[in-house]
Amino acid sequence: MSSGVISATDYFERRRLGPLAFEALVREREQARSRSHLSLDEELAIRTARVEELRRGVLWRNPGPPAPPPPAKTEPAWSRTAKKKPTYPWTVTLKRNARPGFEVHLSEGVCRSMIDSFSAAAPYRVETGGFLFGNQPLNSFGGSVCHASHPAPNAKHGSTTVSLGSEAAIRDELGLDQEYFRRVGCWHSHPTEDPTPSTADMDAWAQYLWARAGERHFEYVAIIVTPGSGGLGPEFHGWVTHGARGRFVCEPAALSDRSGYCS
Ligand SMILES: [Zn+2]
Repeated sequence: MSSGVISATDYFERRRLGPLAFEALVREREQARSRSHLSLDEELAIRTARVEELRRGVLWRNPGPPAPPPPAKTEPAWSRTAKKKPTYPWTVTLKRNARPGFEVHLSEGVCRSMIDSFSAAAPYRVETGGFLFGNQPLNSFGGSVCHASHPAPNAKHGSTTVSLGSEAAIRDELGLDQEYFRRVGCWHSHPTEDPTPSTADMDAWAQYLWARAGERHFEYVAIIVTPGSGGLGPEFHGWVTHGARGRFVCEPAALSDRSGYCS
């Protein structure tokens, strides 16, 4: 082949296989000459198998015995979610229809800030969210939110999920002092009109309380923002998770807002 002369058969073979596979074939042929003790049929069988192998892109390497078929799946696809769910040392009970006994006061600009982040994420059809900060600790009747942050730089946005990222990064970015700005909760958006917290939502909120049980954190506020109906813009739905010793309850919280966005 290095002579530069190529037969018509080889020419078409080269075009069919491509240069790399063709070179391998020629090399194979040269090796085949040393197998001259084989019968014509045996030689043909080897070559046919080799050409098939080359066409599949398996070049020069011995592919070894075929891989065993993958083991049959013993569980149906729908059980994947259930299997993934880790077990936690706490329980959260959702009381979706409870009458709100907890009131969250939102300072001027809190809803505006959530609307801005919500609008920024809307074209990408992903969920977004951030942290809620207050100047005072919450008590069992309610509390105040003075700032709703945008998502942290390392937040992860999915179509039906959002990971809020690092609170420290947001504090650094906004210059929020740890003493004065306490994290009292978080907010996130839902793509549909359903403001009901998911199990993952409630587990994340409970986890926050569980991790801070020694710091007398007994309430955690969450706001779920939905697109809103009737073209009037986003709607805000308050939730509070409270409890102690790993037995938490999540129920609606009343939101009140001076600027009137949320009420
Ligand atoms: Zn959610």
